[in-house]
Amino acid sequence: QVVYLNGEWHAATAAKISVNDRGFLFADGIYEVIPVYQQRPFLLDLHLQRLQRSAAAISLSLAPLETYQVLITELLQRNRVMDGLVYLQLTFGIDEHRQHLPSQPLTPTVYASVSPFNARWEIPTPFTVTLLDDIRWLRCDIKSTSLLGNIMLKRACQQRHADEPLLHRDGRITEGASCNYFFVRDGQLYTPPADHLILAGITRTWVIHLAKQLQIEVHETPLFTHELTAMDEVFLTSSSREIQPVGQIDDIMIGQGQCGPITAQLIGAYHTSKRHLIQE
Ligand code: PLP
Repeated sequence: QVVYLNGEWHAATAAKISVNDRGFLFADGIYEVIPVYQQRPFLLDLHLQRLQRSAAAISLSLAPLETYQVLITELLQRNRVMDGLVYLQLTFGIDEHRQHLPSQPLTPTVYASVSPFNARWEIPTPFTVTLLDDIRWLRCDIKSTSLLGNIMLKRACQQRHADEPLLHRDGRITEGASCNYFFVRDGQLYTPPADHLILAGITRTWVIHLAKQLQIEVHETPLFTHELTAMDEVFLTSSSREIQPVGQIDDIMIGQGQCGPITAQLIGAYHTSKRHLIQE
């Protein structure tokens, strides 16, 4: 694998960053994960717009967005990955020593790589998820490299032998540790609003778009754990897992543990949009 680091291309094992990089010392950075199908990035503009929103939120200056588009194109040309995940990270850069606030403006560290992934073309086996208290901070809308809370939650989930956590704050559902959630009730789609409590997933945005095209009514509204027993279907979304049905939430069985019809319809529409990208 060839990776990009600060204007240079290196073998992944040869790329090195400074111990004084603020990303290393403080997780003072942001990132994006962009799915690639047959060497074409999917929904790249939406990912770069979100990168811009994350950068603005932490006052990190970005180069013009086309710069990252060009960088990703070259990354895909230099690596022979057909279906993959592009990882793009920016940190505030290298300081002379560890101090919470840098004494002068720094040059951001820019890193990009691509790794292979298994694109899905079938309906996946439903997941079992587990409810956990959302212990993270109150700016989950920023795609920050600081993922300690998310990882602690993933570990707690693993201990319960579940596939992914379903997080809530005092009963109000937020998201997963690396995904968003959708719920189907009486043929309509529900998902928590894109406020500061969740990361507004690009897959989430795309699923809402697809649902509207399919004339499915979508509600972006607060949802509560006590409502879960009333849900006909549940699924989660992320760039790497696309649309993943959920068959069980702790002791609550959802739709006899099978992928429901609306979830299946959306998975079909998602695959169609991937096919369009490949055939463009
Ligand atoms: N929420 C969190 C906390 C995430 O980490 C992710 C992705 O990794 C998502 C939601 C889904 O975002 P996307 O659909 O852009 O991959």
